[in-house]
Amino acid sequence: MDTVIADLRDRGVKFHYQTSITAATKRGDAIELTGPDGYTHTTDYVVDATGRTAVTTDMNWDQIGLEYDPVAGITVDDHLETNVPGVYATGDILNKPQPKITPVAIFESQYLAHLFTKETSDAIDYPAIAYTVFTSPRIATVGVSAAEAEESDQYTVEHFDYQNDWFRQVGNEVHAGVSVVFDRDHQLVGATSVGNDAVETINGLTDLIEAKTTHEQVERLIYIFPSIAHSYMRKV
Ligand SMILES: Cc1cc2nc3c(=O)[nH]c(=O)nc-3n(C[C@H](O)[C@H](O)[C@H](O)COP(=O)(O)OP(=O)(O)OC[C@H]3O[C@@H](n4cnc5c(N)ncnc54)[C@H](O)[C@@H]3O)c2cc1C
Repeated sequence: MDTVIADLRDRGVKFHYQTSITAATKRGDAIELTGPDGYTHTTDYVVDATGRTAVTTDMNWDQIGLEYDPVAGITVDDHLETNVPGVYATGDILNKPQPKITPVAIFESQYLAHLFTKETSDAIDYPAIAYTVFTSPRIATVGVSAAEAEESDQYTVEHFDYQNDWFRQVGNEVHAGVSVVFDRDHQLVGATSVGNDAVETINGLTDLIEAKTTHEQVERLIYIFPSIAHSYMRKV
């Protein structure tokens, strides 16, 4: 996040932390924001990005005794079954640690389809989940985070700054890089990237994590040079 903030600051974006807005008033073509302690700021646009929560009201779930948290959503077991037998839940409405994003909702619904057609009776087994923040530049991550890994002796973390990568510098990216996390067997288990192509970098590394691709197998992958994939594969 610090990298993205530094990049945005370089491009003239100003951050006002710990600021509450109590009113937005149209003044001609502009909008005047006001807040406590005489705070005012005039701007062209206002974008409200304060997050979202599950809609749990007016569903009459209490009548059937369904367990849920009003903000986090419905509680399920490892087969996505609620506390009411035969009632299952999937997607963003779940009270879960996994990111609430489209591919995860699809994965859960596919799992339920397999469960209901008796193709499986196993518990749901989430793979490493890649996700991004669509900032400029992007932040994307998958698996064990670099921050988590640095606090554990189970992992090693390697950081690569793209300022030393001549191919990436074609795009004049100043604040960009990738961190890769390995377990004790030097198996890739996580990666985080900041940069304009962070999404493609992390999608590619997700394949390696899920397939448990070894360093020796990666060495056999001959990609087009120069390319983004060639660049990040050399880090594994
Ligand atoms: C602004 C925004 C941007 C997003 N961008 C991304 C992104 O870039 N990438 C990404 O992966 N994810 C993104 N997401 C998240 C993504 O939309 C959700 O993770 C995904 O839609 C979850 O799917 P779902 O089926 O669980 O829920 P939903 O897609 O919300 O579907 C729930 C459905 O249930 C219906 N419904 C609600 N109540 C009732 C009722 N009582 N009876 C019948 N039907 C009902 C709703 O109308 C809705 O159609 C974004 C979300 C938002 C809000």
